[in-house]
Amino acid sequence: MGIGDIADGIARSIENAQASVNEALFEPVIRLGVTGLARAGKTVFITSLVANLLERNRMGHVAAIREGRLQAAFLRPQPDDTVPRFDFEGHMASLSAAQPEWPESTRAISELRLSLRLQPSGLLAGLSGPRIVHVDIVDYPGEWLLDLGLLDLSYEGWSEGVLKRVNSREWGAELSSIARTIDPAGTFEESAARDLAARFTEYLQATRDKGLSDCTPGRFLLPGEMAGSPALTFGPLPMADRAGRGSMYREMERRFEAYKSQIVKPFFRDHFAKIDRQIVLVDLLGAVHSGPEAVEDLRRAMAATLSAFRPGQNAFLSKLFLGRRVEKILFAATKADHLHHKQHGQLTELAEALLSDAKTRAEFAGAQTGAMSIAALRASVEETRRHEGKNLDLVKGRLMDGRTAALYAGRLPDDPAEILHPARDGASKWLNTDFDIMTFAPPKLSAKPGEGPPHIRLDRAVEFLIGDRL
Ligand code: GDP
Repeated sequence: MGIGDIADGIARSIENAQASVNEALFEPVIRLGVTGLARAGKTVFITSLVANLLERNRMGHVAAIREGRLQAAFLRPQPDDTVPRFDFEGHMASLSAAQPEWPESTRAISELRLSLRLQPSGLLAGLSGPRIVHVDIVDYPGEWLLDLGLLDLSYEGWSEGVLKRVNSREWGAELSSIARTIDPAGTFEESAARDLAARFTEYLQATRDKGLSDCTPGRFLLPGEMAGSPALTFGPLPMADRAGRGSMYREMERRFEAYKSQIVKPFFRDHFAKIDRQIVLVDLLGAVHSGPEAVEDLRRAMAATLSAFRPGQNAFLSKLFLGRRVEKILFAATKADHLHHKQHGQLTELAEALLSDAKTRAEFAGAQTGAMSIAALRASVEETRRHEGKNLDLVKGRLMDGRTAALYAGRLPDDPAEILHPARDGASKWLNTDFDIMTFAPPKLSAKPGEGPPHIRLDRAVEFLIGDRL
């Protein structure tokens, strides 16, 4: 254990103590984490969540709303001055334009404070005035959670694993050849490091474009203001015994360690360790549509993502959490509006199967977990048509070019094993069926006062995540 780690632990415990005093005395704060891999639907989720808590007529499954206890919701300045604010207004403007557009996706961490004014319930109702609960929504890329796995790896072990995968993938050819041309024991040269990092980034991008998610280090694809810095200018090299100080290998190793200590650890310490409730969004339908390899990759990525919520598994995290824990984790399959509701049960089952797969390895340190299928923004309506003498349950929506299209996404099996087993066994395509998906345009939003954007089970997700604190 290093001095830095001990200091991290002490700072956290003092902060924790202060937070509990503040909470007990003043206005409680819930820190709600929203994560998921790129394009999972984080931005749309947060935008619709906030809009539907500001205008609450579509949120009947939140008990505090149904019972009339939630009197008002308002946006307030967030407590963290150095974290970018989630651009709720900008995203709402995209969605409410005359030609609505999907908002720009999550690229880094951002935060938004939504404060709720509640009528007290139970014994104190009638005796005391309204109370305020602050919900600090923290949006961050799921790729950053995958970086946790890097903490346990040495540069040598990491390079070996990456190069093995790179060599087995046709889109890895360029990276593989540049890694071979560099002499690891030779004198370090910045231009060679830059070339290696550039090819490595292209390789990670191609990996992501194929629908795969082993794209760590997460910041290579979402560098933000770190772009071009040494901690992001490295790549994998084969081990070189003779590599001394000042060699290519040693400098790449040093930068890999800097990435871990100066990028990965601060994120976990400053942001992740403060989260109370978490929703993990997954584009399961997108993965099923891409095929068995994408489903298996997603399953692995979700298991790795969720392992961050079992601090006992990782010495660094255990110290940060100091016995504290994320109290609730909701695992939500997004974009359920691509399926007729008769199939939502199967989608939820599939999400549950992925979640329990991750759970069987270790419990989430007592956290309450759940799985759901949701659409943060419903972009379709349902329709049943006769087709070859049978009823076909479809959804109908507007495409990005303005045309209207009906979609039959395919039939999800009743038993999730029919998806997960072929995926795990390395099948190249689905046996009996094909799955289709379309990018619907966002719906034109209603101008009715009191009504937020249309959704599917967004209210149930809220009830699961924070209902007990309202
Ligand atoms: P992020 O990268 O996790 O922030 O993902 P976004 O929230 O930007 O969502 C990515 C894309 O998924 C959006 O541009 C939409 O095309 C689509 N999407 C997200 N949520 C929904 C939804 O509830 N319904 C539908 N039909 N599409 C969605």
